[in-house]
Amino acid sequence: MTMRDPCDGLEVYRVGGAVRDELLGWPVKDTDWVVVGATPQDMQRRGFRPVGRDFPVFLHPQSQEEYALARTERKSGHGYTGFIVHASPEVTLEEDLARRDLTINAMARSADGRLIDPFDGLADLEARLLRHVSPAFIEDPLRVLRTARFVARYSGLGFRVAADTRELMAQLVSSGEVAHLVAERVWTEAEKALGEPHPAAFFHELAQCRALNELMPELVPLLEEGLACMSVLPDVGEEQARWRWARLVEVLDREAREQLSKRLKLPRAWCELAEQVACTRHLVAESVVGEVEVMRWLNAIDAWRRGERVAPLLALVRLSEPSLADRLAAGWQAALKVAPRDLVAEGFKGAELGEELARRRLQAISVAIQA
Ligand code: ATP
Ligand code: MG
Repeated sequence: MTMRDPCDGLEVYRVGGAVRDELLGWPVKDTDWVVVGATPQDMQRRGFRPVGRDFPVFLHPQSQEEYALARTERKSGHGYTGFIVHASPEVTLEEDLARRDLTINAMARSADGRLIDPFDGLADLEARLLRHVSPAFIEDPLRVLRTARFVARYSGLGFRVAADTRELMAQLVSSGEVAHLVAERVWTEAEKALGEPHPAAFFHELAQCRALNELMPELVPLLEEGLACMSVLPDVGEEQARWRWARLVEVLDREAREQLSKRLKLPRAWCELAEQVACTRHLVAESVVGEVEVMRWLNAIDAWRRGERVAPLLALVRLSEPSLADRLAAGWQAALKVAPRDLVAEGFKGAELGEELARRRLQAISVAIQA
């Protein structure tokens, strides 16, 4: 028995990022589809599962890819949620493409391979320009962040923001729209940007249109210094984005860093790493690093309970101060050899045990870092 393809007879187009990235020779992560001329009932009858809360989007029963009914949007309030969505079988592909942010994101590919490109996205793609589709760009402040994020991704290919699009981005800031973005959306975009090949470009773009003043004001006065730190990282594999953030904010004082974390509602793990990296910065800046400073640092990063934190921080120190990194590593190894259970066997307990443990660790570090 052959199963009927749920798309059979549907007018379906590949759209957005997949079309763009295929033309750029960039790896395509996920494919979005637009369906023209169908109703939600048609889609469900074919086995698609509705998932959209605010607009009609369906998951393909086999591929699980997203199929959206063609729709238009009209501005109705502040921020990216203030839209009235209109989806009906009469909405054309061109109308759907017209509501998109950038011309390179507003191309579609038909089932027979034709490129539908009413806003000259291909020409902009070849000219390496991020350009708005229409003046309606200013209806959604999230586009400021998305555009900056695309710069972070593609600036290695030569992409930049078109001058008139930059003006609209600045307008979204001066009108107060950008200030309406909720922390979660800002952070989602920032986190993605931090994982892109050129994260500094994201912050530069936001600074240029003054969105940074609204969204991350604490960064503004120290941005260049922070970005310079961010560009130097040990090999931390999967955690790269989190480390980049930590290095970016290590230049802030603690109060500003905490305020920024609160403003962006940062996940705890991000705040913690940022604090550890900042502590490490302070250690490296000490004029003399003796056992007291090393001990203070190990306590501050909670090395005794979270030993796994030490190695990557040492790798960071090693990038600028290899001999200090050697001494720290030796101190840490020596301190680890002081075993609480030996002290218990000697009869220490309670507060005394804690004090003796600290005293012997300090002693061990002192010997090791002088060697
Ligand atoms: P990525 O590679 O990061 O997924 P993408 O362009 O595919 O990039 P998506 O968030 O997956 O981004 O959105 C798919 C498409 O939907 C975009 O290419 C764009 O056409 C449109 N789109 C998404 N968000 C917006 C927005 N805020 N304003 C206008 N169009 C948008
Ligand atoms: Mg996508």
